[in-house]
Amino acid sequence: MVQLQKPKWVYMGGKIRSWDEAVLHISTEAVTRGLNVFEGLKGYWQEDNTTFGIVAMPRHFARLQRSARLLHIPCPVDYDEFEQACHGLIRSLYQESRDMWIRATLYVVEGNWGEGTVADLVLTAYHQDKVPPAPIDVGVSTWQRATDVTLPPRIKTSPNYQVARLARIEGRGRGCSEMILLNQWGRVAEATGACVLMVRDGKVVTPPPSEGRLESITVEIVADICRSLGIEFVERPVDRTELYLADEIRLAGTLAEIVPVRRIDEFVLPKESPILSAVSARFWRAVRGTEPHPGVDLSMVARNQSSQ
Ligand code: PMP
Repeated sequence: MVQLQKPKWVYMGGKIRSWDEAVLHISTEAVTRGLNVFEGLKGYWQEDNTTFGIVAMPRHFARLQRSARLLHIPCPVDYDEFEQACHGLIRSLYQESRDMWIRATLYVVEGNWGEGTVADLVLTAYHQDKVPPAPIDVGVSTWQRATDVTLPPRIKTSPNYQVARLARIEGRGRGCSEMILLNQWGRVAEATGACVLMVRDGKVVTPPPSEGRLESITVEIVADICRSLGIEFVERPVDRTELYLADEIRLAGTLAEIVPVRRIDEFVLPKESPILSAVSARFWRAVRGTEPHPGVDLSMVARNQSSQ
């Protein structure tokens, strides 16, 4: 998980500026209504340690545009501007020993109730240790994922994380570092910042987005990796009790990567996780460039191009 870091540089208002300069006015809808859409992107040092690759950048930009469209927020940048801005910030902050997680946010800085809406692209980037995620304990939350007619889970916007925050607080009290939210039908939606993968009968199973999960890029990557490894991948509704009977569970997300679950509520998962271990190992080799995979596209930040 991200530590509370204060990186020296931030991208805002079309340029790289200092952390302290990156402020929003209290009167903006970004502040008064929490109006924003955002993405989290992960960048990995490649095996040769001379290039830095950001995973699935076109898909993250496309999802940012979809979230913005659904909230009637005009996107102020095109793909090339977005990519250049991310590369510039990475080059100003990266350290050889650490990977990075970039948060790309469109904050609404002008307009009111949908009239005259103007957004600004803000990028912050944080250092991440180069280690695969350790197993975690999770619980099923008493809080529920919002629905498509209340606050569509398909939209990646901060207000969607208010319930997630309550679930995390609940989880902490139960010794769980992540929590799973059920949907309005009592079935599995997703975790607070990742999707749920389960193995039953040798198949990798995850609920579809219509069950109340984000249209996850990591899940798409996992599906592609499963296909290439000859593992069956199924999207279908998942009951809570199926999680308790699962042979393996992992959470999948850009920041979470593919994190093993050791225990869910009072049910301890088997120690061995052969299928999702194989998927994770293949994922890791793909993002590091040791064994490229067609499902894992990388936007390469060349090391010798200095932006500043
Ligand atoms: N669900 C939620 C609520 C998330 O915040 C994330 C992280 N972006 C995910 C799922 C996983 O999505 P992705 O694989 O695209 O990061």
